[in-house]
This record gives sequence, structure tokens and C-alpha cells, in this order.
Amino acid sequence: MTAALPLLTTVMYHYVRPVAQSVFPRLKALEINDFLGQLDHLQAHYNMISPQDLSTVLSGEGALPSRPCLLTFDDGYSDHYRYVFPALASRGLSGLFFPPRSSLMEHKMLEVNRIQFTLANHPDPEALADELDALLRADGRFEPAVLRATHFFPNRFDGAGVAYVKRVLQHVLPPDLRTNLTGKLFREHVSENEAAFAADLYLTLDHAREMRASGMEFGGHGDLHLWHGQASADQLANEVDGSVAALAAIGAPVKGGFYCYPFGDENDDVATVVRDAGFANGFTVVPELWSPAGDPLRISRLDTNDLPVAVQPDCPWLLKVARSGEA
Ligand SMILES: [Zn+2]
Repeated sequence: MTAALPLLTTVMYHYVRPVAQSVFPRLKALEINDFLGQLDHLQAHYNMISPQDLSTVLSGEGALPSRPCLLTFDDGYSDHYRYVFPALASRGLSGLFFPPRSSLMEHKMLEVNRIQFTLANHPDPEALADELDALLRADGRFEPAVLRATHFFPNRFDGAGVAYVKRVLQHVLPPDLRTNLTGKLFREHVSENEAAFAADLYLTLDHAREMRASGMEFGGHGDLHLWHGQASADQLANEVDGSVAALAAIGAPVKGGFYCYPFGDENDDVATVVRDAGFANGFTVVPELWSPAGDPLRISRLDTNDLPVAVQPDCPWLLKVARSGEA
């Protein structure tokens, strides 16, 4: 009987910051102390691997250790430079970071971030759904009741109202209306000065280059951070070209390099365009472990919320693997 391949645990992070003490204590972010506790837990139970280790395995030149674990950080926040980078470096760990081009290189606010901060600063986030509906009625192109019939339901992390606002503003409405409405809500509930806000929120190229020089790695995450599976062919090409441009500016590899589909939204066409641009792999948000015998353009990832934030005697995901006899 051949030994089963070790399954890869990849953990996905977004905001990591001292959130309770911050100006936005209700932002859905991982507390820095919980991040450190999660690293303790992971280091106790897993063999932490670097992005380079994964590349080596994918190119057929090596094997993963048992219980391998890779850390990934989406969306290119300055949090990653301020808090994550020093924490990883002090432990001799590496991480894989995915900044979209427009926020990294132009400091343009991503629409998803406008929505997140609007929700974080709103006195009653579930009620934002009603506010959105009022804006939609004023615009006149969409009937809120029709949108609610298909998009008003909870998901893994959000109640129905919040999930509805996110869906409608992230991908249901046409791009011009999304930009207009997310801009309005952000100005009303968060800040009139979006440029200054963005300058503080995102990594800079200098940050990224410094992190890379100290062992961190970077991968593509689109240009405007659009839902790739729902983008037109031109939009998709622009997302992937933007990713290539961002990595070139950082000095990170494209050929044989890493890609992460925004919102995990991909399909066969998306994966083909990403692969044809030279990327060797793509990361999704399917919350599963991944077998190196599987599709490298669909590497699944657990969310940080799936794992404990302090050392536990055992680990549910590893027990699941152990029971299946795979690790
Ligand atoms: Zn993202």
C-alpha cells in the first residue's frame, strides 16, 4: 500500500490588528494577540511550510512534511506590515501575501473595504440593508424586493441583512452603481477623506519589497479585486494583467508564481487565464485541506476562524485527517 500524501492545511487571514483598541473596534478583524495564539497552536501541531516549499513540491522536486501548514494573507493591508510581518519574522516563519494591484499601487479603496468599514462603523449593521434599499429605490433601476428574494439569507459568518448588503454591493449590481453606492455609504458612515483613509489602510510597494527581502512572498490577487468568475473576458484579462504588474513592481515571480481568486470566485475559464499568464497555482476559499495530488489551481484554504486562537491539546481538522487515514 502506498503511503498517503500529507494533506496541506492553508490558513487564510485578512485584517490582523489590535482591533478592540482601534478606531473601528467592530471591524471583523483578528486580534493581534489571537493571531499570536493561533501561531502558537499551529506551531505546536503542524510543520509550518513556506511558499517556496510549496513551489518546490508543485514543481515535482520535493515532498511536503507531515501535517504541513501554510499561512496566507489577503488584500494587502498595512496590518500585514505592521503586525504580521514582525510576528512571522521573529518566529522564523514565512507567509504568502496577496495584494490587489489598484490598492497597492494607486491606493484606491477596494469596494469590499468600503463595505466592511461601513458595516463596522454603522450603529446597526443589519439595518444597513434598509438603507441600501432606500438608495436603490432612489436610483430606480432595481427593485429591492426582487433582490431580497434571491439574496437575503445568512452565510457562514454573517446574518441575512449583512450578507445581503455584501452580495448586492459586491457583485449583484452593475459596476457603476456599486461604485456610486459604496462611495456614498462610505462617505456618510466612515470618512469624507477616502484618499487619506486608503493611504493608511494598504501596504505600499516599499513595504512589500522590504517584506519580500526578509523572506515573505507575494502572489496575484487581481487589479480591482473583481469577482473573477463573473467578470467579462476583458475585465478578467485586466484583473490578471494587473496582478502581473503588481508582482513585477514588487519583484515577485509570476512564472511558477501564486494566485488567489478574490472571494474564491473561479471557474475553468478563470483558472485557464490564470495558468496561461504563467501562474502555477491558485488559492480558493473552500474550507478544506488540500491534497498535493489535487488541482494546483484550486488549493483550498481554512479561514482563521476555523482554528483555535490558543494552543489546544488536539486539533479538530487534524483529527478529521487522522480518522480518514490520510496524514
Ligand atoms: Zn481579497
